[in-house]
Amino acid sequence: MRKQKVKCPNCNGTGKVTCNKCAGTGCRMYYKNPLPHVFAFVTYSFPEAMGCYSCNATGKIVCKTCKGSGEINKK
Ligand SMILES: [Zn+2]
Ligand SMILES: [Zn+2]
Repeated sequence: MRKQKVKCPNCNGTGKVTCNKCAGTGCRMYYKNPLPHVFAFVTYSFPEAMGCYSCNATGKIVCKTCKGSGEINKK
């Protein structure tokens, strides 16, 4: 029996989808405040661009529907 495979509709056959946490940019702005209890009125907190942890800063995550293969078994 041959298994029929079809292109994954979720990722369009690429096996990867755009990371929705960083919108595919691979980096996110994190607010850093090293002294939250002191000088709260001073702008110690500033956004810092860091690699997105969800996609490992690649901007893409493995498609959950096909687990990265790009195709799914036809049912
Ligand atoms: Zn991301
Ligand atoms: Zn997929």
